[in-house]
Amino acid sequence: MGMKGLFIGLLAFVGLQAGAQDLAHYKRIVKELSSAKYQGRGYAKGGANKAGRFLEKEYRKAGVDEVTLQPFTLDIQTFAGEMKMETLSNPPLKEEGQEASHLRGGLEGSWKKLQPGIDFSMREYSPGVKGEFPVYHVDTLHFDADRMFADLQKPEYANCLVACEFWFTYKHRDVFSRLQKEGECPNAGLIYTWESPIKFFKAYGHRVVDKPIVWVTPEAIEGVERVRLNVDAKFLKDYGCFNVIAKIEGQQHDSCFVFTAHYDHLGNLGRKVFYAGANDNASGTAAIVTLAAYYAKHRPKYDMYFLSFSGEDANLRGSTYFVEHPTVPLSQIKYLCNIDMIGDNNPVQYCEVSDEGMRGFPLFERINAEKQYFQSLNRGNLAANSDHYVFAVRHVPCIFLENEKGDAFQYYHTIFDDWEHAVTASYEPVFRLVRDFVEQYE
Ligand SMILES: [Zn+2]
Repeated sequence: MGMKGLFIGLLAFVGLQAGAQDLAHYKRIVKELSSAKYQGRGYAKGGANKAGRFLEKEYRKAGVDEVTLQPFTLDIQTFAGEMKMETLSNPPLKEEGQEASHLRGGLEGSWKKLQPGIDFSMREYSPGVKGEFPVYHVDTLHFDADRMFADLQKPEYANCLVACEFWFTYKHRDVFSRLQKEGECPNAGLIYTWESPIKFFKAYGHRVVDKPIVWVTPEAIEGVERVRLNVDAKFLKDYGCFNVIAKIEGQQHDSCFVFTAHYDHLGNLGRKVFYAGANDNASGTAAIVTLAAYYAKHRPKYDMYFLSFSGEDANLRGSTYFVEHPTVPLSQIKYLCNIDMIGDNNPVQYCEVSDEGMRGFPLFERINAEKQYFQSLNRGNLAANSDHYVFAVRHVPCIFLENEKGDAFQYYHTIFDDWEHAVTASYEPVFRLVRDFVEQYE
């Protein structure tokens, strides 16, 4: 190799190293935020705030000019204590080579322990619950609401849990909402079944209904006659959280580019189980920190803000607080990129774009077509599914980038969305796509 060749070779090597360094930086942050230290970045064990303080340090390390914390409060139901569920089937479970269960100590022998986060989880607005309950299975094939309410008055179903497939209860929500209220019906609570793996949500946890509601997989509740539950819940009122706001000064200060990503997640389901949220959204959180590190080294033309929001999985609470108390006038935002769940490997990149953001969308498509970062960009309808939404309805030009329906998507809002199942393929193409866009957008 001649001197010139060596020089070009070295340049290429330096270039590759820079990319590898970004990826290593990204992975380190995803791994850290998904670790047990942050307990799923929820509220009951202070994980979200701990993650926020970690990010504050990371932004400083990345070399940004300014980091501020924007405090706000939220009300949220939490489940970080006892989390036990047992089921009893009738006829008693009979295992191969064993006689009827009375030989194993009677009915007691056939109680089956369910695993939190695998077989069951709690509806986010459920109260805690303790006791033993008969189960009433709703006849969805020949559903008759009057007959169900009549059945529930019978002594054998006194203080029972009503079990039903979730989408069926949703279709008949006027009927099933009566089963949530005290005084409407003598049932003790509800069991909703939903496909496996079982999911956990937090979006509507700002209030608590009268009666407990448990999510259970269809397999775990099929044929079950009695249930024992011991679930602790604690409602946190005016719980203090904060957004982390990092700034890099450009040459021009009259407008800015903004990157956003939420760093909170679902927290705990009982003492031991937590939702690591590697994809949702340690991935986007890590991505915008590495973008901050990039722009600290490659000074941009316009000011840049990196907004790490808390309270997203609790119904966009941090971003809502920000747009109501903006630290930069929303009208000065040239373009905002919200990155949520890019820890996946779908070659087609999903996005949503606000009306005002559509002016920039052809540029995203042109860059992507030229560089082939993704096979294509698939633009869906704007929805209140992440933090960009609160900006979009306030006429901020913005795009939402989520790499969905690859190998990681099956773990969405399950305990398996962890570092072990993390997928990193979409990080670099997303990084380059937004970097190229910011460079070319006027
Ligand atoms: Zn989420």
